[in-house]
Amino acid sequence: MENRENKTDVIVVGGGPAGIAAAITVARAGFEAILIERGTFAGSKNVFGGAIYADSVKQIFPDFETSAPLERKNIEHKFAILGEDDSTVISYKKNPKDAVSYSVMRGKFDRWMAEQARREGVIIVEETVVRDLIVKDKKIVGVKTELEDYYSDIVILADGVNSLLAKSIGLRKDIKPKDVALSVKEVIKTDKEKINERFLLNDDEGCIYELFGGSMLGKLGLGFIYTNKESVSIGLGITLDELDGTGIKPYELLDKIKEHPTISPLIKGGEVIEYSAHLIPEGGYKKMPKLYSDGVMVTGDAAMLVNNMHWEGTNLALISGKFAGETAVEALNKKDFSAKTLKEYDKKLRKSFVIKDLYTYRNLMDVMHDKKTIFMDTYFKKINAFFEMFTSVNGVPKRELYRKFIFDFIKERGFFGLCSDFWAVVKLVWSVLIK
Ligand SMILES: Cc1cc2nc3c(=O)[nH]c(=O)nc-3n(C[C@H](O)[C@H](O)[C@H](O)COP(=O)(O)OP(=O)(O)OC[C@H]3O[C@@H](n4cnc5c(N)ncnc54)[C@H](O)[C@@H]3O)c2cc1C
Repeated sequence: MENRENKTDVIVVGGGPAGIAAAITVARAGFEAILIERGTFAGSKNVFGGAIYADSVKQIFPDFETSAPLERKNIEHKFAILGEDDSTVISYKKNPKDAVSYSVMRGKFDRWMAEQARREGVIIVEETVVRDLIVKDKKIVGVKTELEDYYSDIVILADGVNSLLAKSIGLRKDIKPKDVALSVKEVIKTDKEKINERFLLNDDEGCIYELFGGSMLGKLGLGFIYTNKESVSIGLGITLDELDGTGIKPYELLDKIKEHPTISPLIKGGEVIEYSAHLIPEGGYKKMPKLYSDGVMVTGDAAMLVNNMHWEGTNLALISGKFAGETAVEALNKKDFSAKTLKEYDKKLRKSFVIKDLYTYRNLMDVMHDKKTIFMDTYFKKINAFFEMFTSVNGVPKRELYRKFIFDFIKERGFFGLCSDFWAVVKLVWSVLIK
């Protein structure tokens, strides 16, 4: 039975960036929002690399740079191709005034965002799992928790990558193992001075590493390093289909990365103070579910809104949450909570960078799945082999070295193999830039 005390304007499920942005947007417009989070506090269950992006955070919290618990301002981005025991590293360093992202610890940052939301009137119910959605006349009218039922005009789902709730109402299908990555991460306590010395940073400047190859050679997976104030986060993500039935354990791959001669000096002597694992939706545009139905909208990871090419997820979550909140407000003003009104949420996302970017990379994962051994093994090995050859001084004339390198490459990959790789890249670039 619907109890008036348990009836609110909007219920948001999940206290990650998507849920908090949605709830605060509703509260700022003068409506009541209840946010239900299963963790002991928002952020307590959340795992990421990670960097948050200032542009999207500012859209919800314009002054966050002076009040949020930030670790470091990322000024350098390094791309490292790890070989057996060598590596090629490309580095891009920004002028600190142009930095666009900060490293944060989600336990602290999400909690801070939730605190701001609470101050602005959002009712936050913690340590409560939403078990099911309440459906009446094919419309979503509330949620069931372990303790009680809550009713509302609109429910916004921001319950993360697994979103059992979106599945329960047929908006989403089960994620296939190739469309999701399992990620493991360690936080390694290290003195601030050591971090600055090892990563060549000043004060609170930060550095990001993207790691290719190494123990993941030939598999669809990447590693990462982020610097925090007094710790280093290191981890990797690998698509689940790469692990299925292989006996490969992601933490063993991570251990090998940590032992690599390029990486081990960066974390030497540090103490592992946190270990976590989480899934990342990787399906992109082609695997996005329907984003709305009567009385309900799906946001953030629950809607597969992750741009895995650029390691962006929190920004897509924040902006989708904001759009869902705005659409809920429009629906409340019109007193129309039908799919017809909530479709506006989908339209806003399609006009923004969120779906435009996912569309741009819509073919990326197909190409990567088709060519993973070639791109993630053969070519990575060749890049390191090229620099090994280029820097060698062994009495062999350079022309001979070049010729041998090219001849070996053609022999290994084959003329038709090279043509097929080139064609795959041309098609991918075409779909990214043109159509
Ligand atoms: C290892 C890793 C590294 C990443 N690195 C980055 C990065 O550097 N930068 C970046 O922008 N993105 C990164 N991402 C992606 C980013 O973390 C996600 O895209 C983002 O957190 C999605 O936000 P969300 O609010 O949709 O979901 P989440 O942050 O997952 O929040 C979902 C919330 O819902 C709660 N919940 C779930 N089910 C229920 C339920 N039934 N009842 C109540 N509460 C529930 C959970 O406890 C959680 O608090 C990374 C992800 C991983 C796993």
